[in-house]
Amino acid sequence: MSGSYEFDDVIVGWENHPFYTSVLQVMEKAGRAIQLDPNVYNRLSKPKRVLYVSVPVRMDDGSIQVFDGFRVQHNTTLGPAKGGIRYHVDVNLAETSALAMLMTLKNSLVGLPLGGAKGGIRCDPNKMSRREKQALTRRYTSEIFMLIGPDKDIPAPDIGTDAQTMAWLMDTYSSQVGHVVPGVVTGKPIEIGGSLGRVDATGRGVVYNIIEAAKRLRLDLNDKTRVAIQGFGNVGYYSAKILANVGCTIVAVSDVSGGIYNSKGVNLEELRTYIAQHRTVKGFPGGDFVSNDELLELDVDILIPAALSGQITEKNADKIKCKILAEGANGPTTSEANEILFSKGVFTIPDILANSGGVIVSYFEWVQGLQNFFWSEKDVNNKLWEKVSHAFNRVYEFHLSKKMDMRHSAIAVSLEHLSKAMLYRGFFP
Ligand code: NAD
Repeated sequence: MSGSYEFDDVIVGWENHPFYTSVLQVMEKAGRAIQLDPNVYNRLSKPKRVLYVSVPVRMDDGSIQVFDGFRVQHNTTLGPAKGGIRYHVDVNLAETSALAMLMTLKNSLVGLPLGGAKGGIRCDPNKMSRREKQALTRRYTSEIFMLIGPDKDIPAPDIGTDAQTMAWLMDTYSSQVGHVVPGVVTGKPIEIGGSLGRVDATGRGVVYNIIEAAKRLRLDLNDKTRVAIQGFGNVGYYSAKILANVGCTIVAVSDVSGGIYNSKGVNLEELRTYIAQHRTVKGFPGGDFVSNDELLELDVDILIPAALSGQITEKNADKIKCKILAEGANGPTTSEANEILFSKGVFTIPDILANSGGVIVSYFEWVQGLQNFFWSEKDVNNKLWEKVSHAFNRVYEFHLSKKMDMRHSAIAVSLEHLSKAMLYRGFFP
């Protein structure tokens, strides 16, 4: 909460933050594989625009708390900036900037006409009432108003935010311009211009990637396929649900409080009902407790980190036993850990590919909103499948031909496209 930390941790020194430098390192190595123009690398190594805002909110007890917030636009060569808004206690400028850079790379990789952005507020949404969260969202929106818009920068949900948050954001923006502007955000409720298939799109994209990877590794996806998932929010829950529908057994899931393990499979709907009542996985009777660290090291076929960045590091990478690591979260694996996993033969589907389903269907939502013509859920899912499998194939071909791991291959494929666009547009002035 505001006031209980050093301001320095939030803003100063962001360029040297390990998450930011680790994304840069990966980009540098991938760039070498495609002889990336050094001027392009230099441009991409810094965000285009950074906005810091302080967000005052009258809390339910009558006091006013001031929260730190950010909106970072990393690059807009391919189109309007696009990226989620995170509400979490650890939000800071370095993390937001690194995540914005990953958004640029993700959007380019999957061929969207969008740049990269990210935003966030340093707060604990679990400890805030609905009224406090609404006030926070509306004030934050008015503070970043000058940056966002359907042709400029289009936010979406991320950790701690959801369709309701996007509805408040859209309503505040629309009130300020004087008419309704659905295209200012994606991930909205269906009733106000959201897209069918958006709520589960990120998890669905994770599963589509796993299906592609399993084909290449000749791994059958059936009830003997054991899956562990860290994080049981939007991405974790829908990845679990859709993989269970494919026939896999979800043996472990977790949230911030820890996890549940059941070798016969966790009952996902019972767990969801339990969480709705207790707001935590902790104490769920349908399995044994596992810590988040233990969950990552379980003997499973597929591991899906779907919570925070920096979960798999050089300290635990050697103990990871899965065959496929599908990164639902952004930046869950450090670059040191990535090397260890590659040498151990773990097949990693990197974040910018694995979780691209969210921004792909966000793009579909934006397009549908601009045309006021809405598609069926089947259409959305079919188009999602086309985009994900096309991107997966391009990355996989690069990985085979250059003998490079999937993470660097994905970034290289993305940079090939983005750098051409940047060089065509040139630098101003
Ligand atoms: P969410 O808020 O819906 O869920 C986050 C989950 O992570 C919750 O279950 C929470 O309890 C858990 N968690 C938080 N801190 C944790 C910790 N220290 N250890 C273990 N679990 C912890 O968020 P989400 O939208 O599902 O996003 C999850 C990840 O996926 C993030 O990295 C996000 O950037 C990424 N992502 C989300 C989307 C999307 O469409 N929502 C798209 C692409 C990427």
